[in-house]
Amino acid sequence: RALNPNEPEFHQAVHEVLHSIGPVLDRHPEYVDAGVLERLVEPERQVIFRVPWVDDDGRLQVNRGYRVQYSSVLGPYKGGLRFHPSVNISIIKFLGFEQIFKNALTGQGIGGGKGGSNFDPHGRSDAEVMRFCQSFMNELYRHLGEHTDVPAGDIGVGGREIGYLFGQYRKITNRHESGMFTGKGIGWGGAQVRTEATGYGAVFFAQEMLAVHGESLEGKRVGISGSGNVAIYAIQKAAQLGATAVTASDSSGYVVDDAGIDVDLLRRIKEVERGRIVEYAKRRPGARFVEGGSVWEVPVDIAVPSATQNELDADGARALIANGVRAVSEGANMPSTPEAVALFQDAGVLFAPGKAANAGGVATSALEMSQNAARQRWGFDDSERRLRAIMSDIHHAAFEAAERYDVPGDYVAGANIAGFERVANAMLAQGVI
Ligand code: NDP
Repeated sequence: RALNPNEPEFHQAVHEVLHSIGPVLDRHPEYVDAGVLERLVEPERQVIFRVPWVDDDGRLQVNRGYRVQYSSVLGPYKGGLRFHPSVNISIIKFLGFEQIFKNALTGQGIGGGKGGSNFDPHGRSDAEVMRFCQSFMNELYRHLGEHTDVPAGDIGVGGREIGYLFGQYRKITNRHESGMFTGKGIGWGGAQVRTEATGYGAVFFAQEMLAVHGESLEGKRVGISGSGNVAIYAIQKAAQLGATAVTASDSSGYVVDDAGIDVDLLRRIKEVERGRIVEYAKRRPGARFVEGGSVWEVPVDIAVPSATQNELDADGARALIANGVRAVSEGANMPSTPEAVALFQDAGVLFAPGKAANAGGVATSALEMSQNAARQRWGFDDSERRLRAIMSDIHHAAFEAAERYDVPGDYVAGANIAGFERVANAMLAQGVI
């Protein structure tokens, strides 16, 4: 903490992992002897840079850019870029740290990294977003490459931003290097199901947890927060699997639609018009908008928090538990506070941490990299089958690790242990670097 002051999110993420892996270190003193922990809490490299750009009124704006290249022991640094005014080094480090174990859990050859900027795309014109992305890439390009560091989207970075970022990389380097970015458009190197993968994956993970107890999603009410990339496709998959997703939100409030959220309408408002969630309630008979407030007060059987870190606190957890929630599958990264997680686990709620439940996005990014490298294009159904199998494997890895360490059903411990083991073993094999 003395080395990393004012980094509460980073401390929170590290604390959770260290807490889980204590028993692993007891059984494996070789990890301690090799200084695995001391090395893991220190990123391999952190880049912080100035991003100057000119807005539509001709005024100079300056933002701060970040890329934390956390661990390349399993493969090139891999993790998204986040554009949101709250972005700071603590948030990027926590996300990069989580990403190491998440990527390890996918079983694929990808290391951990994360980046972004405190730039806020809300209310900016397409031209402003393009100029910002170009300036951001004017520095970032020198740190990227298909064998070095492969970014993707995250909050505030979707298809539009990825297009501008990729275009500027291509221009500067004179290389059409498809594998240096994932989440690309389908027509220019992108992979089927990448857009849907994180939301679909979080719902598949909930399905896996329920199946262990002989239950299914059929007929369940699902509460989802956020209305971005992850939320939209979690809603879609829940409906396809026979459940009813009844909520969506943004930073202004939430909507409740007991008939089930109309995904086409939500997509039009959020992806095309870039509007606010209140628009949904205005256009959809029977839906209501609640300004501010907690979406977790709406009674549901399954919760898929899909907005941002620490959005589901102890009060939210108590409300969900009082209403009989059965499972929580985190679509976002660290959306539940430690107090909320403890409440869920004490109440016997099936709880899947983001690093397991939302790993479908990065796993499908690795599939995109494979297709780029092989100059292949796989179909939608084939890609979704692969995603489904990967989520099942991740569930199995976390479930099995929890059993092995005598904490059956504890997916937090299981995911941390299974991810850590793979990373630590690779670190031991590769020596002190
Ligand atoms: P988007 O930018 O597409 O959507 C984010 C949504 O969350 C928006 O509805 C946004 O509302 C809301 N939100 C963001 N910040 C806040 C906040 N501080 N308070 C309330 N609402 C907020 O992002 P994604 O859907 O891509 O990402 C959502 C989460 O999923 C993040 O935690 C991300 O790290 C995680 N994730 C994403 C992956 C992906 O493939 N995209 C992969 C793995 C994890 P508003 O517009 O009002 O800000």
